Amino acid sequence: MQRRFGFLASLLCYSFFLLITSGCGHSDQDHTHGETHEHDHAHGADHDHGDHHGHDHADHHGHDHEGEHGHDHEAGLSWGYAANNGPTHWAHLDHSFELCGTGLAQSPVDIAGAITQNLPAIRTHYKASAAVLKNNGHTIKVTLADGGTAELGGKIYELKEFHFHAQSEHSIDGAHTAMEVHLVHADEHDKLAYIGVMLREGAANAFLEALMAAAPRHAGLAIDAKDPIDATALLPVTLDYYSYSGSLTTPSCDEGVSWFVLQEAVTISAEGLQQFTNLYQNNRRPTQPLNGRVIVASAQPN
Ligand SMILES: [Zn+2]
Repeated sequence: MQRRFGFLASLLCYSFFLLITSGCGHSDQDHTHGETHEHDHAHGADHDHGDHHGHDHADHHGHDHEGEHGHDHEAGLSWGYAANNGPTHWAHLDHSFELCGTGLAQSPVDIAGAITQNLPAIRTHYKASAAVLKNNGHTIKVTLADGGTAELGGKIYELKEFHFHAQSEHSIDGAHTAMEVHLVHADEHDKLAYIGVMLREGAANAFLEALMAAAPRHAGLAIDAKDPIDATALLPVTLDYYSYSGSLTTPSCDEGVSWFVLQEAVTISAEGLQQFTNLYQNNRRPTQPLNGRVIVASAQPN
């Protein structure tokens, strides 16, 4: 037992010497477009500082994309995943969340019947970057100051942040995995492209386990990663993918998001999974109807 603890401790020391900072007061180093609205003072979980995707993708409502908004100004009820504020309620919680109810190109989806095509390979050029780990009341989000780029569908995007869902939001032939990580990218016009990586319980994954161990326990808290984070560590060996046009999976459910869900999953240990689900046991939106959308695959799935 002691040996195992010692191993974990040294693992943590090696990759994540974290400097605990003064809560959420300063994770705003990367709101590149000055998107600093802090419309949510009632809930510690929600005063985010525009560090979501670090951009503003023609966001006329002045809310962000990973749903820090979530605030009903009359009732004071934030969006979430519980019985009274979960996905079936989102559209009614705030007028800017309407698309969550009326959108016809929503995410996530069940991936089935994908059409294999000759598609551009995903190439990533991620790099080690200063990062902020935040428990934002909806997930653990890792915002990167300068995380590098990826070529997705033949276009170049910048990696802004990544965050986690349990279980996976997408399913493949109806089957969910234990978790899914979303890598959020934006191009120079603030068009969004997400890579989804399925995480299944299995072999240890030092990067994920250290990250989960270091994640702030309390909603609203953010910490700086003392050492840089390279998101390459989140990727499987092969980058074959499914792709379709969808949306944010959290309010405001904005559409026009290009999705790239990787075919190969990565593993996370039972301990790492437990550490996340201790915080967020169910933060996935149910799959949404395709409404005629086509899912393509870059390779024949195994
Ligand atoms: Zn997500």
